[in-house]
Amino acid sequence: MAKCLVTGGAGFIGSHLCEKLLEQKNEVICVDNFFTGAKRNIARLLANPNFELVRHDITFPLYLEVDEIYNLACPAAPIHYQRDPVQTTKTSVHGAINMLGLAKRIKAKILQASTSEVYGDPIVHPQPESYWGNVNPIGPRSCYDEGKRCAETLFFDYWRQHKMPIRVVRIFNTYGPRMTVDDGRVVSNFIIQALRGEDITIYGDGSQTRSFQYIDDLVEAMIRMMGNKNDFIGPVNLGNPKEFTIKELAEKVVEMAGSKSKIAYKPLPEDDPKQRQPDIALAKKELGWEPKIPLEEGLKKTIKYFKEILSEK
Ligand code: NAD
Ligand code: UDP
Repeated sequence: MAKCLVTGGAGFIGSHLCEKLLEQKNEVICVDNFFTGAKRNIARLLANPNFELVRHDITFPLYLEVDEIYNLACPAAPIHYQRDPVQTTKTSVHGAINMLGLAKRIKAKILQASTSEVYGDPIVHPQPESYWGNVNPIGPRSCYDEGKRCAETLFFDYWRQHKMPIRVVRIFNTYGPRMTVDDGRVVSNFIIQALRGEDITIYGDGSQTRSFQYIDDLVEAMIRMMGNKNDFIGPVNLGNPKEFTIKELAEKVVEMAGSKSKIAYKPLPEDDPKQRQPDIALAKKELGWEPKIPLEEGLKKTIKYFKEILSEK
C-alpha cells in the first residue's frame, strides 16, 4: 500500500487510474484544475476515505507528502490543448518542474505520462523508443509535442543530476468510457455521430492508421511501470500494436452502434500523422505486459458509456 498523487486525476485516464489504485488499497490524492477534467469522473470515489481531491493548477508549486506521483495533468486532445497553447506548454514544462521538485523534496517516485506525439509524424514505422521523432517545432501541435518532449528531458536530467527514481511512459491513442464528448478525438467523434445518426466525418481519405488501446490495458501497464523493481525507467511505449485505418474504424463503429450514419470526407488537419503504431517489445520484456482487450470489446463498453451520457442530455 502506497500514498499516491495523481495529477490530472479527474480526467479520462487519471480517473481510471485513481479508481484502480484505490481498488488495490492505496491512498490517492487527486490534483486537478478541471481544465478538461470533470467532477462526474471521480464522483463515486469521493465517498472513499482513502481518496482526496485537491483543486490545483500544477503550473504553481504544490506541497504534499506522498510515496508516488503519477504526473498526468495536461490536456490531451488537439481541440483542448490548442485552446490555450501557451498554457499547454506551461502545464507540461512548469508542471513537470514543479512535480519533479516535489518528488525530489519528499523522495517520491515519479512517473510521467508522455505521449506517442514525441515521435511527431514518424518516418520510422512502427516506432521503437530509440526513434528520436520527426516533430515540427512551430506548428499548431507543437505546444503539446514539444512540451511533452521537454518534460521528458527534465525527467531524465533530474534522474542524471539528482539520481531520482523516475518512470517515463509514452502513451499511444487510448480510448474508453469518460473520454469527453466534445474532445474531437476519432473514437468519441465516430461513436457520438453514429449514435446520433449524423454523418461520420473522416478527415482525408481515411487511409491514415492509428492503433487503439483500451483504457484498462493502459492503467495496468502504468501501475506495473511504477512498481517495477528492475529500476527500469523507460521511456517505454504503451499502446496496442494492432493497426486500423480510420476508414475501418468508421465502418466498425457504425456497424456496432447499429447506426444508419453515412460517411462524409473532410479535409485532413495540418500535421496529421499518416501512421502511428507502437513497437511494444520493450514493455513486453521489462513489464511482462501486452494489451489484452480487442477493439470490439473496448468499443462495446465505450458505446454503452456514450449511450448513457447522451440519454442524460
Ligand atoms: P484529459 O484531458 O481527460 O485529462 C487531463 C487532466 O489534466 C484533466 O482532468 C485536466 O483538467 C487536468 N489538467 C490540465 N491542465 C492542468 C493543470 N495545469 N493543473 C492541474 N490539472 C490540469 O486527458 P487524458 O486523455 O486523460 O490524458 C492524461 C494524460 O495522458 C495527459 O498527460 C496526456 O498527455 C497523456 N496521454 C493521453 C493519451 C490519450 O490517448 N488519451 C495519449 C498520450 C498521452
Ligand atoms: N479523425 C477523423 N475524423 C474525426 C476525428 C479524427 O478522421 O472526426 C482522424 C484524424 O484526422 C486522425 C485520426 O482520426 O488522422 C486520429 O485522430 P485523433 O484526434 O483521435 O488522434 P491523433 O491524431 O492525436 O492520433
